[in-house]
Amino acid sequence: MFKYWIFSPSRKNWVTKNKNSNKEICIFCEIAKGNPDIPSKVVWKNNELMVLMNIYPYNTGHLQVVPVKHVESLEELSEKEYLNLWKYVRKSVMLLKEVLKPKGFNIGINIGENAGASIRHLHIHIVPRFERDFGFMEVIAHTKVIPSDIDELHEQLKKKAKKFFD
Ligand SMILES: [Zn+2]
Repeated sequence: MFKYWIFSPSRKNWVTKNKNSNKEICIFCEIAKGNPDIPSKVVWKNNELMVLMNIYPYNTGHLQVVPVKHVESLEELSEKEYLNLWKYVRKSVMLLKEVLKPKGFNIGINIGENAGASIRHLHIHIVPRFERDFGFMEVIAHTKVIPSDIDELHEQLKKKAKKFFD
């Protein structure tokens, strides 16, 4: 299943250099800070965790659960932070079930560049699957979500998020 995450040309866009210092910046840390120059679709955020819509989704409703603190692997989180991260994965599944009624989910983490992590900041992917998805190519085909659909879904998810994440 994890092979599934490795190839996605659009993910190159995530590697961004700071214009002034030419230093690589972390997209998720910037989103956590609320940097308006970084495009993002935040569904929920508190001091510890963020739930984001992937703006280059593998499928409609693709979410990412991201710790606010910059860590690159699971063991860098405290026990409590680790448990909360997975609680938010479960809450995200519940949210997506309510809003999109998918037939299944792929949930996965890439740790390290060799595993296909193009953003080093730890994040968990939650990809809802629908009746007509059969595999990798079909999921890729579904990435042509038109922007207004993404915006509309973002609004729907934000509206319902309170019920699950509060
Ligand atoms: Zn970061």
